[in-house]
Amino acid sequence: MNVLLIGSGGREHSLAWAIAASPLLSRLYCAPGNGGISRDAECVALDVDDHAAVASFCKEHAIDFVMVGPEAPLVAGLSDHLREHGIKIFGPTQAAAQLEGSKAFTKELCDRKSIPTAAYGHFTDAESAKAYVRDHGAPIVIKADGLAAGKGVTVAATLDEALEAVEDCFSGKFGSAGAEVVIEEYLVGEEASFFALCDGKNILPLATAQDHKRINDGDEGPNTGGMGAYSPAPVMTDALCTRTMEEIIKPTVEGMAEAGLPFQGVLYAGLMITDQGPKLIEYNVRFGDPECQVLLMRLKSDLLSALLATADGVLDTFDLRWRDDVALSVVMATKGYPGAYEKGSVIRGLDEASSDENVEIFHAATSLKDGDVIATGGRVLNVTALGRTVREAHERAYAAISKIDWPEGYYRSDIGWRAIAREDDQAA
Ligand code: AMP
Repeated sequence: MNVLLIGSGGREHSLAWAIAASPLLSRLYCAPGNGGISRDAECVALDVDDHAAVASFCKEHAIDFVMVGPEAPLVAGLSDHLREHGIKIFGPTQAAAQLEGSKAFTKELCDRKSIPTAAYGHFTDAESAKAYVRDHGAPIVIKADGLAAGKGVTVAATLDEALEAVEDCFSGKFGSAGAEVVIEEYLVGEEASFFALCDGKNILPLATAQDHKRINDGDEGPNTGGMGAYSPAPVMTDALCTRTMEEIIKPTVEGMAEAGLPFQGVLYAGLMITDQGPKLIEYNVRFGDPECQVLLMRLKSDLLSALLATADGVLDTFDLRWRDDVALSVVMATKGYPGAYEKGSVIRGLDEASSDENVEIFHAATSLKDGDVIATGGRVLNVTALGRTVREAHERAYAAISKIDWPEGYYRSDIGWRAIAREDDQAA
């Protein structure tokens, strides 16, 4: 079959790498793709915002199946448009993508289905939002309702900070995303992510992961899209995974179906593991980046078959096999990220760095020019390794990085530190 993959990051490179290995595949296209993806797929310059153009491309190239990587096309309704044209696609409708596109939508679903989550208030004007903040005090969490490129959440340690965040939202700092605001109780615990495929009715749990969002070692400094990840998340015991399925994922899928908005695609639950158990922080309606990279390194079964079973609504007859190994991914970014940075530096040594069969280097923002690999963005490479332990995967990933010649690159040196400390504790 012919497949079109939408997206251009490290997540999409790992998806392309896994789909390219499928016995079901004839041709794989990726729009727009990147330098690394061009080894696994034919990259095409398609404007993904132009839904009609994507549908025409699918007809012209006899595309049997479309896989969407990022959330923006889903929230913009690409899957609805393609389905209207009879094209099979992995990913929720625009209405179901509100699980990621609107925090208030998700909180209301949690209310209806008694899903454990932070207590909250939902506001459409600054005065009542500020009154709620004053009533509840700090620490407190202020969230722009809509998609704000990961910048719409303020975990406020003080009342002043919280009031300022409310002001920011309503004064238009996040555009229309901030016109409505959700204010939440501050949850204490360890964060973890849980991924599941959903076909509208049936659920196939995938795996767990944890990521590092801050730019610097020790989880310090500004937030980023993610500087590294590993899977599984050691905090997610079998008992916690079962509770997550029963208390959070199943009622969500049920609630969506009851609301006439069956969810088809991958559900990515951001969880806080509190004293009382798992609580939902947020949903994403796509794979995480770089969480997808570590998940797919551990997947033994054919990914494309699983994606198709999701789109076809037959996950109840489907099963997946996983490696017991841990996978860990270190993000290499251009120096300066998440602030201003220069594009266009040359990266050398990638072939040697990926010569270990336990290592894959996924490209997040590169292009190929006269045989050179050029950095074209903030997060550029995801150096990903398998190991029997987190420590072994960590060592393999950093051994690979030491062979990469890229003076303009920056990476954290402590990805997986919490999980490694836990392993050391258990061994002691
Ligand atoms: P979100 O975009 O909703 O995932 O929020 C981004 C980050 O803010 C999360 O990964 C958490 O670290 C933090 N966060 C969000 N909501 C809460 C909460 N209610 N309590 C504590 N931390 C939170």
